[in-house]
Amino acid sequence: MRIPIQSVTPASGTAEVIGWVHEMRDLGGLAFFLIRDRTGIIQVTVPKKKAPEAVLAAVKAVSRESVVRVAGTVKAMEKAPGGRELIPDTFEILSMSESPLPLDVVEKVPAELDTRLDARFLDARRPRVAAVFQIRSAAMHAITGFFERAGFTNITTPKIVAAATEGGTELFPIAYFDKEAFLNQSPQLYKQMMMAAGFEKVYEIGPIFRAEEHNTTKHLNEATSIDIEVSFADHNDVMKILEDLIVETYAHVRNTCGTQLANLEITDFEVPKAPFPRLPYAEAIGIAQKKIAEPIRYGDDIGTTAEKAIGEEMGGHYFIVDWPTEIRPYYAMPYEDDPSICRAFDLMHPRMELSSGAQRVHEHDLLVKQITKKGLNPENFEFYLRPFRYGMPPHAGWGLGAERLIQTMLDLGNVREAVLFPRDMHRLVP
Ligand code: ATP
Ligand code: MG
Repeated sequence: MRIPIQSVTPASGTAEVIGWVHEMRDLGGLAFFLIRDRTGIIQVTVPKKKAPEAVLAAVKAVSRESVVRVAGTVKAMEKAPGGRELIPDTFEILSMSESPLPLDVVEKVPAELDTRLDARFLDARRPRVAAVFQIRSAAMHAITGFFERAGFTNITTPKIVAAATEGGTELFPIAYFDKEAFLNQSPQLYKQMMMAAGFEKVYEIGPIFRAEEHNTTKHLNEATSIDIEVSFADHNDVMKILEDLIVETYAHVRNTCGTQLANLEITDFEVPKAPFPRLPYAEAIGIAQKKIAEPIRYGDDIGTTAEKAIGEEMGGHYFIVDWPTEIRPYYAMPYEDDPSICRAFDLMHPRMELSSGAQRVHEHDLLVKQITKKGLNPENFEFYLRPFRYGMPPHAGWGLGAERLIQTMLDLGNVREAVLFPRDMHRLVP
């Protein structure tokens, strides 16, 4: 019976392991192999004079990264990984790997990201790459648990839609029988409609599609959005939920992913402390004006350079609040006493934006007015506006990019490293 490599000790006496040929070395009289599975690495030592014929034949034929089943005697061996080695009675090749490998799994030769993504199945055999996705899994587990404990209902909304959430051109058109349709850029309108349905607290974790022709280290054309919407809540209430969620997710990763963090050589993993500072948009612009050469004025979007400069100044996670109404989507609620600014916020990591949110407009006529002001036709939004005429509670929410969360948490250079099979302008396969 196969045992995980991690559990093999000299006390095992005999053992059978199945794994990949990590490395191999032939020293004439002795052949050495390192066999790797998900749990660890073991040395297999073949004394050529004493080994059975079948073992010698397999050892001669096998290539790196082939899958082998090896059974034999376990002996203590100080110099070998884990302080033991396996002397095989049988050595069977279950699946032979082609040579040369498109990618060096042992990482002696660092590979370009494109080469890695083309051979993702090999790339992810490396513990430091697998670690990213194990941590992503743990983080998503923490996030789901957080919402479930807080009484949120998990919803699933359509990804094939007839209208853009915010207008604009960032949509992928698709062939949908005889109609014009698109891949959804955000669950925004649907999660708001569920507030009219009385669901009160909803969350959705699902794909969003953006046809942006960006080639940056933080944009994907298919991303994962963690979305919430909460009734009888304002922007401050949902900012609190967001910072609590970030803290809890980091803490969960720190507490459960020690091995993975070590594989990533992260020794100073810090859990951020809530509450995060609230920086008014006007002040953020002021910081940017002092620190960057590019001209930036009140009313401008905060671009990548400004974002970085402000982030440097802030040093940790922070919110940008009190945005000009004009540069936020129509569904953001303006302040009553100064409608030129609104109850919108962005959650920022020093490196980039992680989340956008707001208290929403829940009053039908104001919403129509704001849609029109953005140059959009309210008739195209009738399915969305209708619920606002039959009792829509005040509500607020946000969308948080899962990939950017992992990218910033693990200090990955490129957001593509946080996706198994990223989609970008040039990447549709694998
Ligand atoms: P940016 O200005 O950085 O392009 P955005 O303001 O267009 O982002 P939102 O529409 O506010 O993005 O989406 C909410 C969150 O979803 C973002 O803060 C980000 O974390 C994530 N997100 C949005 N678009 C992308 C994308 N193309 N790739 C990766 N994540 C994204
Ligand atoms: Mg945003």
